[in-house]
Amino acid sequence: MSASAAAEQIDALLPQTQCTRCGYAGCAPYAAAIAADQADIDRCPPGGAATIEALALLLGREVKPLDPQCGAEGPARVAFIDESRCIGCAKCLAPCPVDAIVGAAKYLHTVLSERCTGCDLCIAPCPVDCIEMRPAPAGRRANDAALNRARFAAHARRLARRAEERRRGIAAHKAAAPRPPALRMTGP
Ligand code: SF4
Ligand code: SF4
Ligand code: SF4
Repeated sequence: MSASAAAEQIDALLPQTQCTRCGYAGCAPYAAAIAADQADIDRCPPGGAATIEALALLLGREVKPLDPQCGAEGPARVAFIDESRCIGCAKCLAPCPVDAIVGAAKYLHTVLSERCTGCDLCIAPCPVDCIEMRPAPAGRRANDAALNRARFAAHARRLARRAEERRRGIAAHKAAAPRPPALRMTGP
């Protein structure tokens, strides 16, 4: 099997929260590293023991405990925004891999808890520390990897589209800016 086909099969077993706790930029890079024998199968806290077992079965390796340096397996959590303290800076929007936060600049933001994977990536960017992780509501469906993957893909497309729009806007602005008069060399 080629490395890219192996990486795809491995990625299909990962929870797709894109939390980076494995030490990689997301699930797909971690899968690629496992496929290339550059990472072990014990690095995904959201997947925990079940993911390690599935990876061991797929790759014919021994089951091992989660690497504690990556974090611990725990109950599902979701982010909660204290709206009385939110200043509407929108700094939490782009980091959320599954677009679970809604809001716009200068407006209060809130978390769609049924979308939230508990990845924690919105916590650090908030300048007023008004986001905290809370236990997921009772009866909430477990993380759905296929949905997370589709939402992450949509999120990545949206960010790429915005970046392209920004690039074009800057280029158009530069093209429309008045040019300084050409310098003329004058003799002595
Ligand atoms: S869900 Fe697992 S594999 Fe994906 S980024 Fe998080 S730790 Fe890495
Ligand atoms: S709201 Fe925060 S914790 Fe929830 S998925 Fe988005 S970034 Fe992760
Ligand atoms: S980063 Fe914090 S303050 Fe800024 S919009 Fe998000 S929740 Fe509100």
